[in-house]
Amino acid sequence: MVKTIEITDETGYQKFLKQLPLYRSALYLFTQFRIKSRVHAERVEEIARALNMKKRRERVSFVYDRACDYIDRYNEENGIICAYVNGMCEDPKHQRLPNGCCFICHMQTSTGCPTRNISCKLFYCDHMAEKHKDKILTVKDIDILRLFTPEQRLIVKENVFVTRKTHIRLLSMGSYPLYCIYSVIKPFRFKNI
Ligand code: SF4
Ligand code: SF4
Repeated sequence: MVKTIEITDETGYQKFLKQLPLYRSALYLFTQFRIKSRVHAERVEEIARALNMKKRRERVSFVYDRACDYIDRYNEENGIICAYVNGMCEDPKHQRLPNGCCFICHMQTSTGCPTRNISCKLFYCDHMAEKHKDKILTVKDIDILRLFTPEQRLIVKENVFVTRKTHIRLLSMGSYPLYCIYSVIKPFRFKNI
């Protein structure tokens, strides 16, 4: 079955976003979407591509990567960059801490982060939150994340310090209680399943 949708303006786009929980449900499991839009064409095309991916892991990976791209682009365009220079935070109150910051992740390497963690990208320390308070992104600002269930979006909010692979595995399971169990029982907080 094919469903054709035409979006002509911003109001239509907002209505379309509201329909996404329905379009991603089992009711549309065998439906291919053909969507044309006069607004936010690139975003709509990505959402349509994701809707047409019927394998859960494939869709989760695609949405995850496109959301990461969006956050990276947004932060770069808005100058939201962690103030960590020469091994030290620019904020004096964090400079006293062992790594010149406030957090220690055991995955950090001398060249930075070896993975792509969407939750880390959406995390702002107190210094960054204060410095960029009017501009920082949250899960609800990223349209393609509406293809995730509320439980998956909660996981996106919280699951820092894990690799992309682990994140996608947990998101594909899609269960917040399971994610909580994982967080509690993993023997060492920063090891990946
Ligand atoms: S305290 Fe914040 S701004 Fe400073 S280095 Fe750490 S994460 Fe970056
Ligand atoms: S996983 Fe997160 S906290 Fe760890 S190095 Fe990467 S961005 Fe930093």
